[in-house]
Amino acid sequence: MNAPVRYSAVATDGKARAGTLSTPHGEVATPGFMPVGTRASVRSIDSADLVAVGAEMVLANTYHLMLRPGSEIVARLGGLHGFMAWDGPILTDSGGYQVFSLGPKIDEEGASFRSVYDGSLVRLTPEDSVRVQQELGPDIAMVLDELIGLPSPRPAVESAMERSLRWAERALAAHSRGDQALFGIVQGGSDEELRGRSARATAALGFPGFGIGGLSVGEPPELRNRALAAAIMELPAAKVRYVMGLGDVDGVLDAVERGADLFDCVWPTRLARHGKVLTIDGDFNIRRAENADDPDPIHPECSCSTCSSYSRAYLRHLVVTGELSAHRLLTIHNLHFTLDVLRRARAAIVAGTFAEFRLGVAGRRTFSDRGAGG
Ligand SMILES: [Zn+2]
Repeated sequence: MNAPVRYSAVATDGKARAGTLSTPHGEVATPGFMPVGTRASVRSIDSADLVAVGAEMVLANTYHLMLRPGSEIVARLGGLHGFMAWDGPILTDSGGYQVFSLGPKIDEEGASFRSVYDGSLVRLTPEDSVRVQQELGPDIAMVLDELIGLPSPRPAVESAMERSLRWAERALAAHSRGDQALFGIVQGGSDEELRGRSARATAALGFPGFGIGGLSVGEPPELRNRALAAAIMELPAAKVRYVMGLGDVDGVLDAVERGADLFDCVWPTRLARHGKVLTIDGDFNIRRAENADDPDPIHPECSCSTCSSYSRAYLRHLVVTGELSAHRLLTIHNLHFTLDVLRRARAAIVAGTFAEFRLGVAGRRTFSDRGAGG
């Protein structure tokens, strides 16, 4: 049987690589970024806006959708693609990230937690997560893994990594949907040896693609970069590598340099809702008083629809008066910017000039507020 999801590299430049991810709902140019549609909606924008900003693939959260409206309802309404009127590729996470942030009771079978919606007790096992994601119907589903905060003692990181491997085997055994790929997830905290071991063991299970999870949780960028490199070194070149929860431009380009292909993060969209805009020369808050009578766009080089039509002064006015359209217009800009940087990174890899491109971006982003994802 043909795998539902295939990766092929188009060009490499050092360890950085440009490629194509083929899915049942179309192709994604990599390195690529997935906007996060937590509840089958990227907050404040719709599926038509996603097309306009150049998004090729979106992520939705299993945890939220299994609680509201419930995966059975989504399945009856055509799966996520039909439900949210998005014809492109979709990836769902396993629900693990949200569950583990709630401080669940974990045992070998799975995790028990309270619903954020009504406080009821919910059980999530690796098999449950697969069943729910098969009902939601994304192109790519993720295995449930045991997440652990960083820093944590090495034995705790190792034990969570090993349990994640056992859960990955159970998820594979439970997965049966032929038009959907199930990806494994590399764990191991910021420990390079554990990352390497987790990557080898996860690769040996034969998944068609791999997430690298448990990073971008507040650890220093140097630690994250080393852990990423240790994991990627052990993953097969013929399969896609997705760094989960990473989405700040500097962190993403560090990861691309080390051979990562795919990213997701709430960062660009969450910042937009706080008035913060991302630009190639650094990030700033549109609320700043100096923007009050500025007729210029957010950035002169940006070709997004917001920058094509609206001044900083107008956008600041919308933000300070609490107009709802501010969220949409700034979200469009931040997503367009993030996606555009990755398109340019891909072109640089194809041209063999990625190192110069990387240095050029670093040199320009002089007042960047670095930060982790989440
Ligand atoms: Zn713009």
